[in-house]
Amino acid sequence: MLCLFGVLIFRISCLKRVYEKLQEKEQQLEEQMNISIDISYDEMRKKVSLEQQLLDHLQNTIATLEQQKEDIIEKRIQSLSEAKEIYLTFDDGPSDLTEKNLDILKKYNVKATFFIVHTQEKYHDLLKRMVEEGHSIGLHSYSHDYRKMYASVDDFFLEVEKLQEEVKEITGKQVNIIRFPGGSSNTISRFSPGIMQTLTKEVVKRGYRYYDWNLSSGDASSIGVRQFVKNSTNNKGKTAIMLLMHDSATKKVTTQGLEQVIQYYLDAGYDFKPITMHSSMFAHKVRN
Ligand SMILES: [Zn+2]
Repeated sequence: MLCLFGVLIFRISCLKRVYEKLQEKEQQLEEQMNISIDISYDEMRKKVSLEQQLLDHLQNTIATLEQQKEDIIEKRIQSLSEAKEIYLTFDDGPSDLTEKNLDILKKYNVKATFFIVHTQEKYHDLLKRMVEEGHSIGLHSYSHDYRKMYASVDDFFLEVEKLQEEVKEITGKQVNIIRFPGGSSNTISRFSPGIMQTLTKEVVKRGYRYYDWNLSSGDASSIGVRQFVKNSTNNKGKTAIMLLMHDSATKKVTTQGLEQVIQYYLDAGYDFKPITMHSSMFAHKVRN
């Protein structure tokens, strides 16, 4: 009996030890699991935080780029609405002064338009040079004789076509831009009542375009260089200027003041353009 009791005690104590071991093991396992959960949770948090930072950075970059894009578009719209252009025009040439005027234009690399009259042979090379150097040639008149050219619509077109043919023979260019002598607003043609009303419509119908001016250098009258420059730069804030000048033989003042005028408009940010068939027409109010 005593022996049996001893065996039982021994067994109980063995079982107790096994139980304790098991408990110990279970506790270890639990701890291990907690550690592994803790580690992966921390790593996950780190990862998420890094990804969040990256996302924030990308969002900031996108916002900056969007802003830059808007700034560029705004600036472009502003520069287009502020685009300034000037058309330098010379009537009544070519003459002995034309070469010097072309040299000045070349020096500043700016383009102009020459509304020419019938050309002596010695100036034919100047017409070629105008074309070669990117200037435009326009038709002013063959004779510049108001009585003759404004005598009738037919007389006017006879002069235009004769001059057009001449330019084509010399330069190979078909020229379709016109400046009426005296402008479309001239009243000198009143000996042919209403002729300018007819001509301004008729030239367009026949495929030409005509160009008056919105700023005069005043060099048709006898003025000094200072006055020439003052008139030519009195643009009153206009953003598109068609400047009337002359390059007939007596217009030395124009040649003398030309550089100052060019410099003024270059400094003011104007683009110098030759007239083409695509240029907007500058048309005066017709008064005859
Ligand atoms: Zn003229």
